[in-house]
Amino acid sequence: MDVQTTFLDRLFESGLLIDTGVDGLYGRSGQFEDVISAFERLIDKFGGADGAEAMRFPPGMNRAFFEKSGYMKSFPQLAGTVHSFCGSELDHIGLLQCMEVGDDWTKDQQATDIVLTPAACYPLYPTVARRGKLPMSGGLFDLQSYCFRHEPSQDPARQQLFRMREYICMGTEQHVTDFRQRWMDRGVEMMKAVGLDVAIDVANDPFFGRAGKMLANNQRDQNLKFELLIPITSVAKPTACMSFNYHQDAFGTKWGLYLEDGSVAHTACVGFGLERIALALFHHHGLEVKQWPAKVRQALWG
Ligand code: ATP
Ligand code: ZN
Ligand code: MG
Repeated sequence: MDVQTTFLDRLFESGLLIDTGVDGLYGRSGQFEDVISAFERLIDKFGGADGAEAMRFPPGMNRAFFEKSGYMKSFPQLAGTVHSFCGSELDHIGLLQCMEVGDDWTKDQQATDIVLTPAACYPLYPTVARRGKLPMSGGLFDLQSYCFRHEPSQDPARQQLFRMREYICMGTEQHVTDFRQRWMDRGVEMMKAVGLDVAIDVANDPFFGRAGKMLANNQRDQNLKFELLIPITSVAKPTACMSFNYHQDAFGTKWGLYLEDGSVAHTACVGFGLERIALALFHHHGLEVKQWPAKVRQALWG
C-alpha cells in the first residue's frame, strides 16, 4: 500500500474526510471545516487592512463567460459542464427505460447555461468589466468558491470539488506585481505561523496538448506563476497550497478591463487551496487538533 492511500485511509478512519465512493469527492467533518474557517480568519487578518471588496459566487458560472475565457482551449481535460434533462414525457419514458437496462441515460442530456467554476476568480473579470473603467488606484477583490476540476485521484490533496480563496488585483503592471510579491511574503509568514515548512518555486499550468507545451514553457520562462509548496503526500513532490499568478494584460484585453487613463489593466491573482492547507496541517501536526502545538492553535484560534 503506498503512502498516499495510507493518509487517505487515515483521513477516512478519523472521519475528517467522508468517503462518497468517488475519488476526489469527499464530505468533510465539522473538525475539518473548523480548521478551514480558522485558517480563513488568519487570511482575513493578513489581508484585511488592504480593503479588498468581498464577493461570493456559487460554484457554477455563466457558460457564455466560461466559453469566452478560453478555458476549453487550455484545459479541456479539467472542465465540468452542467447538463439537464429537457425532454418530453415520451422522452422521459425512454430515459427511465434506458436507466432500467443500465444503458447510458446521460447522452440525451442538454447543456444548461451553467458550467462548474474552474477557479474562484473566473466569474470576476466580466463582472468588473461591466462596471466600466477602474480608478488609477486599481481594484482589489476577495473571493472564495468551490471549484471543480476533473482530475480524480487517490491523493487526498487532489480533489475534484475543493475550495479556493483568492485575492485578485487589477491595475498597472507595477501595482499588480507588487501585490503578488506582497502575498508571496505573507504566504510564507502565515505558514510559518501555523508551523508549516514551505518552499516557493516557479510553476506552470497543465495546458492541454502539444500547443500547450509552448504555453507552459512561456509561463515558466516569464515567471508568470509561482507556487507555495508544502510536503503532504510526498516530500520529493511537495503539494502546491497557494499559487501566485500574473496574467500581464491578457485578462484585461480579453475582458475589456481598462484604467481611467484608457490603458488596459494588468491583473494578478493569489489563490489559497483551503483543503490542501487543512490537509497539510493534519499531516504535520496529527489528526487530533487538540494535540497540535500550542503555538499553532494560538495562531488559528487565538
Ligand atoms: P497543481 O499543480 O497541484 O495541479 P494548480 O497549479 O492546478 O495545482 P491552481 O490552478 O494554481 O493549482 O489553483 C490554485 C490553488 O488551488 C492551488 O495552489 C491549490 O492549492 C488548489 N488546488 C488546485 N487544484 C486542486 C485540487 N485538485 N484539489 C485541491 N486543491 C487544489
Ligand atoms: Zn485566479
Ligand atoms: Mg492542477
